[in-house]
Amino acid sequence: MKEDYLNVIKFPLLVSLSLAVIAAAFFGLVFGSYFKLGLSASETVIYIVLFAILAILVASWVLNLFSTHSRIRPRWLEIYAKWMLVHIYYNLASFLGYITFQKRQQMQESFLNFNNEIVLSAAKNINHTNILLLLPHCLQNSKCKIRVTANINDCASCGKCEIAELKALAEKLSVKAAVATGGSLARKIIRDVMPDVIVAVACHRDLTDGVRDAWRFPTFGVLNERPNGPCFETCVSLHTIEFAIRKFQ
Ligand code: SF4
Repeated sequence: MKEDYLNVIKFPLLVSLSLAVIAAAFFGLVFGSYFKLGLSASETVIYIVLFAILAILVASWVLNLFSTHSRIRPRWLEIYAKWMLVHIYYNLASFLGYITFQKRQQMQESFLNFNNEIVLSAAKNINHTNILLLLPHCLQNSKCKIRVTANINDCASCGKCEIAELKALAEKLSVKAAVATGGSLARKIIRDVMPDVIVAVACHRDLTDGVRDAWRFPTFGVLNERPNGPCFETCVSLHTIEFAIRKFQ
């Protein structure tokens, strides 16, 4: 129960703490200089610039928190908030998590949950027609003679792995589905399809990298399960995937 809670709260908590530490350091520096020798003209300018950066960081974070409940308008502000999320706040949380010995996977899962909330709130009341279900190659049975890459319809639906059920699910829900063997192929598939929304399946690291890499596309992440170890005959909850796709239709 505590683990589940941390999987949700850890990322926003680490970002908020990072900003609190930066703000405390800034005000400590300013008041320290002021009460010691007073502030010279050049110091005043530097502190004003630093304060402006701090204010932008805090305001943009508040914007991101807001975006987990409601869609941000106008569009440029939405893009700006997403850019800050994946390029600034993710790195801030990673750094603070690293120096305080936090579990990396838990932070990544929390980041993915946070991102999913943003994607869902932005998609509220919109029927998307161009949805891409992007799957990792490790879902496939390792003994399968067919190499299913990119086109999921290459699967012969023998039922020895979940690719068959995912293919049937994609057909039922009329969404495009593709299997990617790595980041380069995933990027190519996204470029070719130009989806409105991506529902992506992968492990913690690949999914986090993928969501950050494709940050301009709304990407709902679903973690796979690894009962046989990493990258080998993994599986995923079909129920979660169907739930996610239906949220966007
Ligand atoms: S379901 Fe498809 S991908 Fe899986 S083993 Fe059978 S043919 Fe291969």
